[in-house]
Amino acid sequence: MGTHTRYFILRKDDLNSFIVKLSRSHKVVAPVSKGYGNYAFTEVTSANDIALKHIPTILPPKKYFLPQRETMLSFGTGHIESAEAPLEHENTVIFGVHTCDLNGIQCLNIVFSERPRDYNYLRRKDNITVIGLECTEYCDEHASCNLMNSNFPNGGYDLFFTDMGEDFMVHVNTQAGDDLVDGTNLFKPATQARMEELYAIRDAKRARFRDEVNVDRKKLPAIFDKSENSPVWKAIGDKCLGCGNCTNVCPTCYCFDIADTLNLDLKSGRRVRTWDSCEVETFAKVAGGENFRSGQTERLRHRHYRKFRFSLGKYYRFFCTGCGRCTRACMAGIRLKETLSALVKEAA
Ligand code: SF4
Ligand code: SF4
Repeated sequence: MGTHTRYFILRKDDLNSFIVKLSRSHKVVAPVSKGYGNYAFTEVTSANDIALKHIPTILPPKKYFLPQRETMLSFGTGHIESAEAPLEHENTVIFGVHTCDLNGIQCLNIVFSERPRDYNYLRRKDNITVIGLECTEYCDEHASCNLMNSNFPNGGYDLFFTDMGEDFMVHVNTQAGDDLVDGTNLFKPATQARMEELYAIRDAKRARFRDEVNVDRKKLPAIFDKSENSPVWKAIGDKCLGCGNCTNVCPTCYCFDIADTLNLDLKSGRRVRTWDSCEVETFAKVAGGENFRSGQTERLRHRHYRKFRFSLGKYYRFFCTGCGRCTRACMAGIRLKETLSALVKEAA
């Protein structure tokens, strides 16, 4: 298809036709209102159910790439030949992914592409088409997407939608995106005047998103280097309930546990992978009862270092997208922006 840097206009009145058409060939999921200001990616068959304006969904799109529970292997206890590796996946289009979550998907893609590769993750990813949707305003006060540089589109999508009033500007980024656009006659090439409009929307947005935490993000790793013994960790550790909500809702948390369970016949069983959490007490417990991170303070500190320090050394990027979910989900009222601000202040 030649160029993959094409921009198109889709009239808002035509969004429903687009979604209906997509839903005939794919499972289409999009943010849907669940009441009380909550949104969740849910299957849709028309645009009427989609919440175009939404704060980050309760769970990020990682639930489609890495299900909370999946059977990796069904086996018999007799011969190795009796083992089967089922992989449940569907051709899925995820519509309405904010830029912070695109960043989160990119983080997971990097982790699961490392050797040894995670073929369950990668095969699901191959069957998922991602359609981004730009936020032109802050979701709420918990977001720190500007700090984490994830409030503007930076790849990781097939199509990307920006609200332009009566219509959407649509950026086609991949062959899969191209195919979706070519499959309908709803998209019209964007004129230069409309491109200028897009640039103006982005400039206005740039002026609105700023300084969520009073620090240059480049300084954060050095601040974390100095903060290992900070009293900040004890202060939030004393509040933390160890529930694991924050890791479950985090778009970049990917730790899992794997367990083999036998059926009652004792001749067959399943190997099941389930999300795990570094915040729960058993996470770092080993045979003999030793626990490498036995206190909530150490566990909470570890999680923060995984987001703002260790990932820089290993993957050269932050593993926090600034989505704010950990703050929204925390029953103990631990707020990421407050924690970062306290560390910054202390290190000044
Ligand atoms: S650490 Fe919190 S703000 Fe950062 S990506 Fe995870 S859930 Fe979002
Ligand atoms: S959600 Fe809050 S209380 Fe629960 S483990 Fe995370 S920081 Fe602790």
